[in-house]
Amino acid sequence: MQIVRQQIAHAAKMAGRPLDKIQLLAVSKTVDAKTVLEAVEAGQYAFGENYLQEALDKMAKVRQFSPELKLEWHFIGPIQRNKTRLIAENFSWVHSVDKLMIAERLSNQRPDNLPSLNICLQINISKEQTKSGVPLHEAAELAQQIAILPKLRLRGLMTIPAAGEELEQQRIPYHQINELQVQLNQQGFALDTLSMGMSADLDAAILEGSTLIRVGTAIFGKRARAHV
Ligand SMILES: *Cc1c(COP(=O)(O)O)cnc(C)c1O
Repeated sequence: MQIVRQQIAHAAKMAGRPLDKIQLLAVSKTVDAKTVLEAVEAGQYAFGENYLQEALDKMAKVRQFSPELKLEWHFIGPIQRNKTRLIAENFSWVHSVDKLMIAERLSNQRPDNLPSLNICLQINISKEQTKSGVPLHEAAELAQQIAILPKLRLRGLMTIPAAGEELEQQRIPYHQINELQVQLNQQGFALDTLSMGMSADLDAAILEGSTLIRVGTAIFGKRARAHV
């Protein structure tokens, strides 16, 4: 955890950006509740999860161990239509919204007593058929439709580019997402979040303006289970 924080601080310095504009999301998929609590001990409070049932079980265990603890949970995985209610009820952020139908369900199902659900649009930047995300040229229209939903707060853009080996290559897709955000804000949106960068490419993402990096492996080690 400290090593990742140092790497973030170094990258921020190289980018000439203030460190307090870069949030670290600890991606805790496949990691158990005890390990999450160790990360909390090390000062981490925001966690990202991909699989709903695993996340709900973990939240319950964390609550059992530490009932007073207030953590911020982010859903970052693919969203099935029949999972939206539990996501709307249990998370503060959803990074992987790429369809209006899913956004409408999240808004309708967000409990009245909770603040609006923070949303990032997932953009498919590498145009891979298998990856989720809205294509770049459809993002503005979807953003417009989502921005008016009452219980959602559209915060920004998220992307998972195809893996690039070298820094300069890694920067290209993140640069495009940054430009899209600038364009959308010129059109009147007030987006303040760029959810970009993972263990292998966080330097590139920070150089391109990322405000929220999603790091699993570099904090918790290699995931044992094969999924994602
Ligand atoms: C797993 C995952 C991450 C973290 O990836 P690492 O390479 O382990 O840092 C980030 N974002 C998403 C959407 C993920 O599914």
